[in-house]
Amino acid sequence: MLLNLEAVTKNFGGFQLHPLTLSIERGEFFSLLGPSGCGKTTVLRLIGGFESPTSGRIILNGQDITSLPPHRRNIHTVFQRYALFPHLTVFENIAFPLRLKKMAASEICSRVTECLKLVEIEDLKDRRTHQISGGQAQRTALARALVAKPDLLLLDEPLSALDPELRMKMREELKTICKKVGITFLLVTHDQEEALQLSDRIAVFKAGQCLQVGTPKAIYEDPVDTFVARFIGSVNEIAGELQGEPSPETGELALASNAGNFKIKKNGHPLPRQVSVILRPEKMRLLRSKSTTQENLMEGEIQDQTYLGSRTEYSVKIGNSTFKVFEQELERLKKRRLNTGDRVFLAWRSDDAIVLPQQTV
Ligand code: ATP
Repeated sequence: MLLNLEAVTKNFGGFQLHPLTLSIERGEFFSLLGPSGCGKTTVLRLIGGFESPTSGRIILNGQDITSLPPHRRNIHTVFQRYALFPHLTVFENIAFPLRLKKMAASEICSRVTECLKLVEIEDLKDRRTHQISGGQAQRTALARALVAKPDLLLLDEPLSALDPELRMKMREELKTICKKVGITFLLVTHDQEEALQLSDRIAVFKAGQCLQVGTPKAIYEDPVDTFVARFIGSVNEIAGELQGEPSPETGELALASNAGNFKIKKNGHPLPRQVSVILRPEKMRLLRSKSTTQENLMEGEIQDQTYLGSRTEYSVKIGNSTFKVFEQELERLKKRRLNTGDRVFLAWRSDDAIVLPQQTV
């Protein structure tokens, strides 16, 4: 294990980081995800040495670094605003950490050239930072952070200042670079899509507490609670009450709700009677007429539709609730066109429902 946080806490008075125990493996792309103010940056700053924990220990490569200052930890940070030196060229910005280490000029030249190649900005090496674009500044900052071959690279929302197209491109490159150089990347983001796309594992935070750590798939498909489920993607929710015991043949259980009576499957966790059933939009099928399959069916009416190019998003009103469902363009073109007010059915399989204890907040 590269990094271990052992019951790390931070008390800022108004904000408390609850005891955080976390292990990150060498070469892993790990993300801290959560809404604004949940404490992600605080965790990053504690690891970087810019804040001291109130209690707990931080172990890097088997060494207790809890009380080491930032420059004595083999950790580098790419800040949101890059923090490049305006009076230096791109080359010299990248060379800076090596010059601090008093490395030989020839070694500096070969390491910086290697990093310039890695982030594909060799031809910009003699420019000053006001002569490069935001995306190029981002690459320079990344190269400067990688040049000293840190054990761990901390990334504090590094893509947030880029326009959407460039952000998508840099996302792909970040992941490729992480795997190429074999350095562990720890990313702070509030963007769930970014975390899903980039990470080997994600830790989801809420109000100073780490709620779940897992692979993107585990967090998306098996969230520990409704907060994580809602934060990590679109959800349709049905609040209901479990009835009786699971069927011995199918393992299915009856659910009574305002939206109707359904069959669901428990995911193995103990559940109270009052549950929230979470259905991802892509797990629901939109039907123009009633089906006779064994799936769960809900009848409603089209409230709204948004054309998104490759797919159309429909809002379907069922009772007092609105459900979101997508239809791929190829599918939609084969079928009858839908208008606001049309009666439709939403079908879903008992296996595809995520069943969680009901939460009031
Ligand atoms: P964002 O996505 O908005 O950056 P975040 O999840 O990274 O949010 P943090 O920056 O870790 O959140 O802040 C968590 C809480 O700790 C906030 O309420 C913040 O005001 C508080 N906080 C952070 N640093 C300090 C500090 N040095 N002194 C006092 N309070 C602080």
